[in-house]
Amino acid sequence: TVPDPSTLPGLDASKLKVTPNPDLKTPPPSDQLTFGTTFTDHMLTIPWNSATGWGEPHIKPFGDIPMHPGSMGIHYAISAFEGMKAYRDASGRVTLFRPDKNMARLNRSVARITMPTFDGAEMITLIKELVKLDAHWIPTEPGHSLYVRPIMLGTQPTLYVGPTNEALLYVICSPVGPYYKTAIKPVALLGTDMYTRAAPGGTGGYKVAANYAPAIVPQLEAEAAGYDQNLWLLGPEHVLTEVGSMNLFLVLKTKDGKTELVTPDLADIILPGVTRDSILALARAHASGEAKIAGLPADLVVSERKITMAEVKEAAAEGRLLEVFGAGTAAVVSPVGRIGWEGKDIVVDCGKEGAGPVTRTMLREIEGRQYGRIPSEWAVVV
Ligand code: PMP
Repeated sequence: TVPDPSTLPGLDASKLKVTPNPDLKTPPPSDQLTFGTTFTDHMLTIPWNSATGWGEPHIKPFGDIPMHPGSMGIHYAISAFEGMKAYRDASGRVTLFRPDKNMARLNRSVARITMPTFDGAEMITLIKELVKLDAHWIPTEPGHSLYVRPIMLGTQPTLYVGPTNEALLYVICSPVGPYYKTAIKPVALLGTDMYTRAAPGGTGGYKVAANYAPAIVPQLEAEAAGYDQNLWLLGPEHVLTEVGSMNLFLVLKTKDGKTELVTPDLADIILPGVTRDSILALARAHASGEAKIAGLPADLVVSERKITMAEVKEAAAEGRLLEVFGAGTAAVVSPVGRIGWEGKDIVVDCGKEGAGPVTRTMLREIEGRQYGRIPSEWAVVV
């Protein structure tokens, strides 16, 4: 008989077992960090089994994970993950930025691929313990942070394609340098319609592993054509969706003279980014007059709506395409200077500062909250 999942033990942070690493490493000099290649001394692992529910959380020395070669997660991408960061502010305080959002998204992602959901608040408690133990890995230099990677993997040893009855939720951490080592630098996008990142009814709105491998060939082709990233377009109307693995924002002058901040509506094809949500919340608070933000236009209109390449082309031709930027945890914002489309480049003037005023203001406002310069409920103390 199959046990009723609601009667099985849930994820319980009070059961945490900690095995300190007896062999601590020395973090490398901060200027020698390459994204995602250095790992801290500890990791957090939590097993799940459909018969016994969530097992004991364990913080233990960082190391290999024993894995059956037939594990479903390896063969069928029953794997979903998160990307978040721990920041150190000027007073030495360590915080996570809106971790509840990452836990909610991971729960949505794992449910989409038959893995068990968990209590997000308990998981944040556990992640805080891991980050506290490895906090000395967060570089003290400005703009640095600790990238935190939670992942859940289906571990049932079977070649059968179906729901997994075993899973492993684990968290590893990697110190990272600033995205912009010197000045903020605009990127070039290649309008990509020969590949599709996400389609209605697909998994583009979930952070599942299966979305990422197929995006690498298009990325390499964009680079070979002289661009930095793909601008993912969907369908015969060339609907704009995302930029590389970032959400997309545009600033347009509307035909009636207002300034519009546009981002594609989620429509199940866009990953609901934490940075995207934060930018929308700040812009809407400004637009409604609830919290005015210096640097944003007084007449700002905020839209989550469909936008096509035809509209972008028309706006550019009429001098109404003011700014384009990507948004995500890695860079916060990434200004776009040109978009390759139909054999030509649509140029976006980023000015001498490398990014337009809305892009720069969003960088200042979000980084300010991450690094404690602007007090915010979004910064959760570890
Ligand atoms: N889109 C995709 C496809 C991504 O992988 C990411 C990174 N998680 C984002 C957007 C940005 O999301 P966030 O702001 O939560 O980092």
